[in-house]
Amino acid sequence: MSLLAGHRANRAFAPSSNIAQLRESATIAVSARAKALRAAGRPVIDLGAGEPDFDTPEFIRRAAQRAIDAGATRYTATEGILPLREAIARRATEMGGDVAPAHVVVSTGSKQSLFNACFCLFGEGDEVLIPTPSWTSYYEMVALARATPVPVYGDAAAGLKVTPSMLEAAATDRTRGVMLNSPCNPTGAVYTRDELAALIECADERGWWVISDEIYRAISYGNTPATSALEVAPSAERLVLVDGVAKAYAMTGWRIGWTIAPRELASAMTALQSHTTSNAAAPSQHAALAALTNREAADASISAMVAEFRRRRDAVVAVVQGEPDLEIVEPEGAFYLFARVGEDDPSRDDGARFARRLLEEHEVAIVPGSAFLTPGWVRMSYAAPIDDVIEGTRRLVRLWRETRA
Ligand code: PLP
Repeated sequence: MSLLAGHRANRAFAPSSNIAQLRESATIAVSARAKALRAAGRPVIDLGAGEPDFDTPEFIRRAAQRAIDAGATRYTATEGILPLREAIARRATEMGGDVAPAHVVVSTGSKQSLFNACFCLFGEGDEVLIPTPSWTSYYEMVALARATPVPVYGDAAAGLKVTPSMLEAAATDRTRGVMLNSPCNPTGAVYTRDELAALIECADERGWWVISDEIYRAISYGNTPATSALEVAPSAERLVLVDGVAKAYAMTGWRIGWTIAPRELASAMTALQSHTTSNAAAPSQHAALAALTNREAADASISAMVAEFRRRRDAVVAVVQGEPDLEIVEPEGAFYLFARVGEDDPSRDDGARFARRLLEEHEVAIVPGSAFLTPGWVRMSYAAPIDDVIEGTRRLVRLWRETRA
């Protein structure tokens, strides 16, 4: 829905040309509707959320409390406190990069990091390739930078992932960059090391920027974290790595993300941020520092969380396996199940109709695929208690059967 629709009653407000095309975040809209139904007394199972349902680990909360008591209550450097940028750079260097604190900019969530990168790299006339389906905000951020988002549709037979030849087919001489996200929201697909290397090599050869959003990297059901672009990029000359603490450390509300980028771009993003939000919240930066530097405690909490997500993933897959005709993407990372419930025809919007019925008739909130430019699909999050996840999946399957009857 365009933002304009919600403002028609107010004649004084005419949206500027900057936001005329902006769409409300569908994922947030679903959560709001589920909350409203709950408030009205309906026992809605909310499988729309994109955040871990765990508390931030205690050692991180305590570190933030100590930092506040020690005076971390003032402005910091716009790009973030040095010890945090050092810790981020150290971690990245271990992964194969040659990263110094000067390459790191800490922001108010990786969402701001992604926006900073898009705004500083792309502008009018530029085209940016977005493997699709993708997280809803990529399209909007590229458009807010006045560049054109170009969806590149993945192959349903291959986890809706894209290949270099698909990127090439969508490219023009205006292509400036590509947004990558593995593990992927909304599909849960993970690019193998070779697949990721091939995409980055393709971008590198053509001089495109790569923005690699690795916010779900730790939540991967292989034996190791998913591959990072830093591990396979032939050069970091046109690479922006985006990460943060939200998902891996159950810290969505603390709002800490970061970019790792060439120095000149890092300086430009710092300048941009200095005129918008300045530094990310100081206590949150100290909390993130604790998360990154207390390795043993952090690894233990990540392992426990990933083990629980894996248990839920297995439970979801066990339910949908009873329906061999229900097409899903094999969930290999993040905490989403992506299922096809109809045609990818925007005029039918089967996914939205399905999600609406699931919520109104079966009291389960999920997100329609149209939010990710794949209107025949729906996204269900399993970041919820396992009983809710199993019951929600059963109801989803039941409705899918009904729609086919
Ligand atoms: N990138 C992806 C793919 C996401 O799904 C999200 C949040 O849902 C973000 C980035 C933003 O995360 P943060 O909370 O760090 O802003």
